[in-house]
Amino acid sequence: MEFEVVRRDITRFPAEAIVNAANKYLEHGGGVAYAIAKAATGDVREYIRISKEAMREQIGRDHIEHGEVVVTPAMRLEKYGIKYVIHTVGPYCGGVWDEDKKEKLRKAILGALKKADELGVKSIAFPAISAGIYGCPLEEVVKTFKEVVEEFSKEAKSVERVYLVLYSEDAYRTAVETLGLL
Ligand code: ADP
Repeated sequence: MEFEVVRRDITRFPAEAIVNAANKYLEHGGGVAYAIAKAATGDVREYIRISKEAMREQIGRDHIEHGEVVVTPAMRLEKYGIKYVIHTVGPYCGGVWDEDKKEKLRKAILGALKKADELGVKSIAFPAISAGIYGCPLEEVVKTFKEVVEEFSKEAKSVERVYLVLYSEDAYRTAVETLGLL
């Protein structure tokens, strides 16, 4: 399995599944969640409605826990080859990083990878979950991604390529330096 760090806008990234760094109620109020909702339908409120309906069907509750994921159709994103959006929720850090945050992030990443495998997709793209509004240190988020992808590669059946998509040049540089890819 391949793990690649790229600098792109995830709403236009040609992976079969893209992951949303959602909140537990799938409200898509800001950050990458808002960007995905807007790009997928043009109407953020409509995508929130679709997401909440999918959550009730797939989880049977009005919120998700770390590790639980909800799948929604890609809608307008299909033109980039995206088939599914997988919503997952990472930890809130507010600048604090510890084993508990790491475990929650690990679950959030692994849940999305497992769902992608179940859906039979070959490629999946992640944003830097929890490294924006949720305030987790990007370096730790990036390291956790690498570890979880390595762990998952042993059991992956369909997923062949995992992308970590950074939006800004700064974030991309930090990620690449953290993983010693330069
Ligand atoms: P969280 O609340 O989990 O921290 P955010 O949406 O605030 O989620 O941010 C997660 C990461 O996604 C941040 O690093 C942010 O810069 C990045 N991001 C925001 N928009 C995009 C986008 N269009 N494509 C890729 N990454 C994005």
